[in-house]
Amino acid sequence: MKLNYAIALMACLFICTTVFAQNPMPCGLHDHDILIDRLLLNKKYLKEIGIQQKDGVVSYVPVKYHIIGKSDGSARQSPKKVLDMHCALNNFYADGDDGIQFYIKDGFNYIDNNTAYDNHSSVGGQFQLSNNRVSNAINIFIPKDANTGNQSVGTTLGYYSPGNDWIVIRKADANGSSLTAPHELGHFFSLPHPFNGWDFDPYDSNVHGVTVGNLSPDGVPNEKMDGSNCNTAGDFICDTPPCYLFFPWGNCNYNGGAKDPDGVLVNPDESNIMDYFDDDCAPKYFTADQKAIILADYEGRPALHAPWNPIATSITGPPTVVEPEDDSTTSGYDHVILDWEPVNGADRYLLEIDRLSDFSLNPTIQVVFQSNADIWGIFEADKSYHWRVTPFNPYYTCAASTSINKFTTGTSLSANNVLAVDNLRVEPNPVSQNYVVVSLDSADAFDAEISIVSTTGQTLQVTNQHFHVGHSDIELSIENIPNGMYLLNITSGDKLITKKIIVAK
Ligand SMILES: [Zn+2]
Repeated sequence: MKLNYAIALMACLFICTTVFAQNPMPCGLHDHDILIDRLLLNKKYLKEIGIQQKDGVVSYVPVKYHIIGKSDGSARQSPKKVLDMHCALNNFYADGDDGIQFYIKDGFNYIDNNTAYDNHSSVGGQFQLSNNRVSNAINIFIPKDANTGNQSVGTTLGYYSPGNDWIVIRKADANGSSLTAPHELGHFFSLPHPFNGWDFDPYDSNVHGVTVGNLSPDGVPNEKMDGSNCNTAGDFICDTPPCYLFFPWGNCNYNGGAKDPDGVLVNPDESNIMDYFDDDCAPKYFTADQKAIILADYEGRPALHAPWNPIATSITGPPTVVEPEDDSTTSGYDHVILDWEPVNGADRYLLEIDRLSDFSLNPTIQVVFQSNADIWGIFEADKSYHWRVTPFNPYYTCAASTSINKFTTGTSLSANNVLAVDNLRVEPNPVSQNYVVVSLDSADAFDAEISIVSTTGQTLQVTNQHFHVGHSDIELSIENIPNGMYLLNITSGDKLITKKIIVAK
């Protein structure tokens, strides 16, 4: 796993150099130039103007997460894991009472497209990413893998594309434990690797000599230990010591003997987040100069500056579940109300429901904006379901979830919630024409919605209807309903009555 991480990070700027190596027409190096040009501009800004952000003020930066699934909506990374990643990202970037923090801009974006999921770097996949990219947030795409199509070694966990100005993180690393997100965000804010110039040619004394020459394999001047050329060599950042990509290296104390162009032993910083040493070389961090460059880059990106403040910067405790109680059986199966106590600081809740307790089978996942949810159409009779609620707001996503609760559905319709009408009939049934007649008798007048729902829970048509006291005959068009079996639901408030119909036109 550790090795995998290191190999994978190698691809951060991969698009660039590999393309360049294979084809001197320049997308790659051009892309790499974009990043280095921005870095040098940011250094100039720091020297001539300096950071404008006031002490004690946090800059909240919008991030758009694009969760990519297959065309049928399956296989997406769990939004819970994306919340965990967002939490870890903010923890990593937290810097006292100022600096940069991130918030989720306008909720998650779901892209359901086989090509974008399986092969995001193909022409069709890139089209999907471009189409979904937003200009007023940092775009992070989460497909199945992060292969660029130009890769020659290892598994890519993620990368930043300077040309597209977006980040791709593979599904397996979009979570709370991977360090891929903070590293790629570093690239987004113009930070190169400390071993800049050696990205695709790790140091090997047999190839590069014990004492390295003046230029790296990519032609970047090699940084010296005495700092004399730190502004014009390596990563162009002075408080990151020289590194010539010592990879793979199995521990957190490099002593491989490489010497700088002056013959001085090199001593890299194994904990720098922009380097490729093991995750275990912790705590990973940005140096002071790297942090200053991140802020300078942010200040140079006005599209990310919309004023924004979180409704709360923390959320205490998981919600308390009200109903259904853990291990209980619901009165009916068609319709289950999930209810929990609201939590201070949360303005929304991630609700997960699935047959499996790890929510991996065929989960129903919703972001709801109140502390309950009225779920229809997904439950089968006499089956057990697991559910969990995670409170959050667009900034703070670190709050604890409820424990994983379980309920078993009843075997009948929800008795307490049956609409009190008599003699409900839907005719003709099967339906061979473009309308049906719904007739019923009611002791009270009521307003209702008549919906036609497929057996997979998809609502195809909704009609609002007033029923008066006594007998009603309602003619309902089903012109746009394809042949098949459906539920015709008459819903009034939290009460429902339902009839199965077959359309065979
Ligand atoms: Zn990288």
